[in-house]
Amino acid sequence: MSGTMRVGRLFGIDLKVHFSWIFVFILVAWTLAVPFLPDGYPGWSERQYWAIGIVGSLLLFVCVFAHELSHSLEALRRGRRVESITLFFLGGISQMEEDNESASDEFWVSVVGPLTSLGLAVVFWLVYLVSRGGPSQATALVWYLAYVNVAIGLFNLMPALPLDGGRVLKALLWKVTGDEGRATRAASRSGTGLGFGLMALGIMLVMFTQGIAGIWLVLIGWFIQSAASSIREQQTTDTLLSSRTVSEAMRTDFATVGPGTTVQTLLDERIVQDFERAYVVVLGDTFRGLITTADVRNVGPPDREKTWVSEAMIRSEDVVTLSPDAPLEEALDLIVKRGFHQLVVVEDHRAVGLVTRGDVLRVIEVSRLLTSRPVGDADESPGNSQ
Ligand SMILES: [Zn+2]
Repeated sequence: MSGTMRVGRLFGIDLKVHFSWIFVFILVAWTLAVPFLPDGYPGWSERQYWAIGIVGSLLLFVCVFAHELSHSLEALRRGRRVESITLFFLGGISQMEEDNESASDEFWVSVVGPLTSLGLAVVFWLVYLVSRGGPSQATALVWYLAYVNVAIGLFNLMPALPLDGGRVLKALLWKVTGDEGRATRAASRSGTGLGFGLMALGIMLVMFTQGIAGIWLVLIGWFIQSAASSIREQQTTDTLLSSRTVSEAMRTDFATVGPGTTVQTLLDERIVQDFERAYVVVLGDTFRGLITTADVRNVGPPDREKTWVSEAMIRSEDVVTLSPDAPLEEALDLIVKRGFHQLVVVEDHRAVGLVTRGDVLRVIEVSRLLTSRPVGDADESPGNSQ
């Protein structure tokens, strides 16, 4: 996520805050200080309302951090890599490397978050019971934290992807059916349903109460349904790509150039004529490197005459390569998530192909045509399941 700032590091996990969080921080502090606290606890000074409002808002986000951290620690315990936790305007996100490998990993990594929130709620509630006779500022604060943690815990338990409850539902369906793809599609459909439901509820609230709570619901609903549909799309793509290999998508008629050509010659005789963005550098049969238009641009015009391709290229050991029988998903991952424009396919030190983003998309497109029913809609609706 761009626009984030690192605020710390815990258990090897970067803790980050997205700038949108600031608005929510102010909104929560304001909600506490202006309408909420004066209503329930009249007689404090203005400054006290704001102080408790700001402390309450800060502690709320400490609780959200604790919720996310519990997901991350459980994932780490199960051998996954966790990069960072980011707070943004709708809560927190844990960035993890790969997906959960089994239904039980998915279940525990997901369920531990809401359980942490509900556990925090119980702790704050007990503190509230003990401190009831004390200063009203302190009791107001712990009561609010108990209340808000119950809300976070229960909301996240709703059985709809991308919420934790949706992942729990997915894990259970996965365990029962043994089919992860089907479980993901079902749980994400429930997410789409919940998202549209919240949006409808929000619009009704805005119409009948003119309050801003409705706008908030519309926003959350929109976020949930769009996340649910992108999860489903990702799942469809994964299904289409699984069992396909790099050799099916790669082009074998890729452009090559010798290492002993000058950069100027490459530019004059090749690039301006065939407009390729990358040339595989080969000597005889052997793969030596890759030179792209960006590498050519890095050589100043006066130096192009006396610079060899071998000096300007990315050397073979630094080029990301794939074997022809690597899964196509791996190529897509490198291209989409890590931003590579092209990947060289190498077998026994020989360059045998080139895969570009367009090539991978083409395979997905064609696979979609060939599946008689779109995979994303191979649904479990009643009437279809004879
Ligand atoms: Zn969670």
